[in-house]
Amino acid sequence: MASKKPSATVRLVAPETDKTEPKAEVVVQEAAPPSPPPVPVRRIERQGGKAEPYVHKYPEIRGGVCEYHGTMDPNLPSQYQYKLCDHFRGEQMRCSYCPESKDPDEVINQTILHVYDHPTDPLLKVAVCSTYECNKKHQERFQMSA
Ligand SMILES: [Zn+2]
Ligand SMILES: [Zn+2]
Repeated sequence: MASKKPSATVRLVAPETDKTEPKAEVVVQEAAPPSPPPVPVRRIERQGGKAEPYVHKYPEIRGGVCEYHGTMDPNLPSQYQYKLCDHFRGEQMRCSYCPESKDPDEVINQTILHVYDHPTDPLLKVAVCSTYECNKKHQERFQMSA
């Protein structure tokens, strides 16, 4: 009796491994846990609230003269005096609301300029001359009580 051999001898042929091939070294680096990005702190803008936003106000520039420092150099015209004081040193102020056609020095010379920090942009100042039109524009914009 010829016992039937299993007809198929299953030879598992392992895939040839070329041992000469240098294995790429896998350097497992412990990845540092990514630090969370800084979360910007955002405040909520409130519009239409009754409370006026705190706005830093500078001394008034009266006819070009800082109300705090006064005349700095009597040899200079008054509209340049504020440029010498610590508040506005070297700055060319001009009313934020006057039309472009107006000469800023003339406006400064003839009016009282109210200067504020811009409520939302730290790089800007807002200046308002004492004309009715500009005050109106400013108050409407920032909803300030007169
Ligand atoms: Zn000053
Ligand atoms: Zn103006």
